[in-house]
Amino acid sequence: MSKKVEQVKTLIIGSGPAGYTAAIYAARADLKPVLYTGMEPGGQLTTTTEVDNFPGYPEGIDGPTMMIQLQQQAERFGTDVRIGMVTAVELSKELGGIHKVTVDNDKIIEAHTVIISTGATAKYLNIPSEQRLRGGGVSACAVCDGFFYKGQDVAIVGGGDTAAEEASYLANICNKVTMLIRKDYMRASKAMQHRVNSLPNLEVRYNTQVDEVLGEQVVEGLRMVNNQTNEKEEIAITGLFIAIGHKPNTDIFKGQIDMDETGYILTKGKSTKTNLPGVFACGDAQDKEYRQAVTAAGTGCMAALDAERYLATVESPEEVA
Ligand SMILES: Cc1cc2nc3c(=O)[nH]c(=O)nc-3n(C[C@H](O)[C@H](O)[C@H](O)COP(=O)(O)OP(=O)(O)OC[C@H]3O[C@@H](n4cnc5c(N)ncnc54)[C@H](O)[C@@H]3O)c2cc1C
Repeated sequence: MSKKVEQVKTLIIGSGPAGYTAAIYAARADLKPVLYTGMEPGGQLTTTTEVDNFPGYPEGIDGPTMMIQLQQQAERFGTDVRIGMVTAVELSKELGGIHKVTVDNDKIIEAHTVIISTGATAKYLNIPSEQRLRGGGVSACAVCDGFFYKGQDVAIVGGGDTAAEEASYLANICNKVTMLIRKDYMRASKAMQHRVNSLPNLEVRYNTQVDEVLGEQVVEGLRMVNNQTNEKEEIAITGLFIAIGHKPNTDIFKGQIDMDETGYILTKGKSTKTNLPGVFACGDAQDKEYRQAVTAAGTGCMAALDAERYLATVESPEEVA
C-alpha cells in the first residue's frame, strides 16, 4: 500500500526547547510549522524536577511544566504539534528542493524546509539504584543541578574532558567532590588534568566504579568498588553526577548531513545552516559545548530565522541580496 503524502512549508523535528522555540518564531513568521514530538515529548527537561536557570522564572520551574508551557506558546501562534517519530529522511541537495521525511514508517511529509532539533541523550551507567534515584540526587548535568548541592559532598563519574570540567565546576561550589574514573588514567586533556589535580577539595579515585547508589528516596551515599582489588568502600554523599558522555539523536540523518565523528551535526559559521540547502540544525543535536536549555532555545530561534530567509530566497530570489 502506498504511503500517505502531505506537503508542508516548515517541518520541525523534535519537541525540546530548541524545537518549540523554532516553532514559536516560525509560526509567528507565517511559516506554518508542523512539529513532530518524537519519543520524548518535551525533551530532556522532562526528566528533571527543578529548572532554576532558565531566564524568566524567578522562583524556578519544574521541567515538565516548563515544556508544556513552551508547547502551549508554540500552539498559540498556530504550530501544528503532532505526536510522531521521524523514521527516515531523504533530504534534497538542491536549492529549493523538496525534503522527504517519513513519520512512523507510514506517512511521508514533503517539506520545503526542515529544522532538526532532535537533541541528545545523556548516557547513564544503567544500574538499578542509579536509575531509581534519577531526579533524587542522581543527575547527568552538573552545570544544571550542581547548585542544589552547594556546600555538600558529591561524587562524579567519568574521566573525559567534560567530566573534568564538571568536576572542577562542582569543586567550586561543593564541600567535597570525589571523582570516580574506571581506568588507571584520566582521558581528559593535560590542561584539564592539571586543573582537577590542583583543586584541594577534589579527590580522584582511579580504577574505581559505582557498585551501588545508596538511599531510598534521595541519594545518601555511594558504594564504590576498585576494579583491580574488588575492594568496596562507602562514602556519604548527597549528589551523584554522571558525566560519561551524550549521544546526539542524529542516526537517521547519517550519510546525508555533515556530522562530526561523534554524530553532532555540523553547522556553518554562526548560523544553523547545514551542508544541505533548506535544512537547519539547532539545540543539542549540533552543540556538544554548552548543552543548556537556554542555548538550545537560542539556536532554535536562529534556525527559524534562517529558514525564513531561505524560503524568501527560494520564493523570490531577485528580492534577496
Ligand atoms: C537531568 C538533566 C537536567 C537538566 N537540567 C537543565 C537545567 O536545569 N537547565 C538547563 O538549561 N538545561 C538543563 N539540562 C539540559 C537541557 O535539558 C538540554 O540542553 C536541552 O533540553 C536541549 O534541548 P533540545 O531542544 O536541543 O533537545 P532535547 O531536549 O534533547 O529534545 C530533543 C527532542 O527531539 C525529539 N526527537 C529525537 N529524535 C526524534 C525523531 N527521530 N523524530 C522526532 N522527534 C525526535 C525527542 O523526542 C525530544 O522531544 C538538563 C539535562 C538533563 C539530562
